[in-house]
Amino acid sequence: MPKLYLLLGGNLGNRINYLKQARESIAAKVGQVVRISKLYETAAWGKADQPAFLNQVLEVQATQTPEQVLYIINGIELELGRVRHEHWGSRVIDIDILFYDELVQQTQRLTIPHPQLHHRRFTLMPLAEIAPELMHPVLDKSIVKLLASCEDSLEVKVIADEL
Ligand code: ADP
Ligand code: MG
Repeated sequence: MPKLYLLLGGNLGNRINYLKQARESIAAKVGQVVRISKLYETAAWGKADQPAFLNQVLEVQATQTPEQVLYIINGIELELGRVRHEHWGSRVIDIDILFYDELVQQTQRLTIPHPQLHHRRFTLMPLAEIAPELMHPVLDKSIVKLLASCEDSLEVKVIADEL
């Protein structure tokens, strides 16, 4: 089964609970979650009045094509976003596809590997925890190597050992 890596993130409401609900929906609708990183917190850049982000990376045994996965995770974002914040413009959860096996694809709807992943410490840190030796199929470098050369200066810290 294809190995799928997903990045979860959110900075509104009960962040830990939204991540938990997202993981549960992913396990139910996308496939078995075989690895889960700790929770990582990063201060929001740009607007200083924004709450800090929580991020987490999952390894999932996908049973669908990448397009089907995108459709399902967009549905989960909407479902969770509508629970308590329907009057808000912003979403409480963002789910991005980082890798889908060694697949390289670039279409209008979907770019895999995720085009920003190597620029973002909040993505590389949780990824390095669960898949340090995973090779980036375009950059041809492992996650630990990408992290070592990442110039993102935002501090990323582990906030919880358990989920
Ligand atoms: P962002 O993740 O940049 O905050 P969105 O979650 O609103 O923004 O995503 C915008 C669009 O990005 C999605 O509708 C999707 O079609 C596209 N997209 C392209 N590549 C990916 C990817 N690897 N994972 C998730 N979405 C992607
Ligand atoms: Mg997204």
